[in-house]
Amino acid sequence: MTTNPLANIRIVLVNTTHPGNIGGAARAMKNMGLSRLYLVDPKEFPSDKAVWRSAGATDVLDDAIVVETLDDAIAGCSLVVGTSARERRIPWPLLDPRQCGESVFNEAGQHEVAIVFGREDRGLTNEELHKCNFHVHIPANPDYSSLNLATAVQVISYEVRMAYLQATEGNTLPGHQWDMPPADAKSLESYYEHLEKTLVELDFMDRDNPKQTMTRLRRLYNRVRMDQMEVNILRGVLTAMQNYVYYSGKVLAKFGVASGVDALRAEALADKSTAPTPRTEAERAAAADAKVQD
Ligand code: SAH
Repeated sequence: MTTNPLANIRIVLVNTTHPGNIGGAARAMKNMGLSRLYLVDPKEFPSDKAVWRSAGATDVLDDAIVVETLDDAIAGCSLVVGTSARERRIPWPLLDPRQCGESVFNEAGQHEVAIVFGREDRGLTNEELHKCNFHVHIPANPDYSSLNLATAVQVISYEVRMAYLQATEGNTLPGHQWDMPPADAKSLESYYEHLEKTLVELDFMDRDNPKQTMTRLRRLYNRVRMDQMEVNILRGVLTAMQNYVYYSGKVLAKFGVASGVDALRAEALADKSTAPTPRTEAERAAAADAKVQD
């Protein structure tokens, strides 16, 4: 088992007729960061035509493992996906290329995975397809759905790469192109404290019983990965809200009315012309969730 999941993914080509397609598949694989090519009983391999079409991905060809049967090629794999250009008689659990990329990449973090491609003239046999956990179909033009073998390898490998990029880079700021530094842990912590304090002052949350609300809000912000400027802006918004509550209370106090959002609401309700926007059901539920013990 290796640490890079891509190294646990095998591309298996069954009974390939044209060596050029083997070279084309090797090139597509290397472009997408895949390297393990298995060839089941190829018609012509090694071959100059394969080297020529690989356009420099000769390391993938050199390391290719030639085996006699599909069983040999998928030995040791806990997930096997078979590709098919057309619908088969007995429907099998089916993935689209995107789901295939995600499943293959995710499972490759735990065990060996194979993606199997068929012959140029007649694809994979039903028997071969039945050795697969899933089938994947590239949703091409139904009137002309059969892609060139190496092109099919390209499409599927690309989706694996997208899953890989999403997993490794999806939850980060775009790095060097960004104009602001990411918020550090300390300023995030201060932000969450400020947010909690404000939510209590707004009477959205019960200070003594905040429950899961802050956890959920942290998770929400965490997914966004804020930069420092964004945190500063949000803190400015919180301060403005706090001031509004504070000074409204002061003004009300002058007229002998208790401060606080509930008092404001009671006043506003008495005066129908300034009645606040009522909360929606969902907002009420969220506020209740913030106050009620989980
Ligand atoms: N004439 C064959 C198609 C072979 S194309 C047939 O009807 O089955 C060669 C291989 O490329 C296929 O076996 C499959 O592995 C892959 N392929 C081509 N088009 C595909 C598609 N639309 N979806 C999934 N795999 C495809």
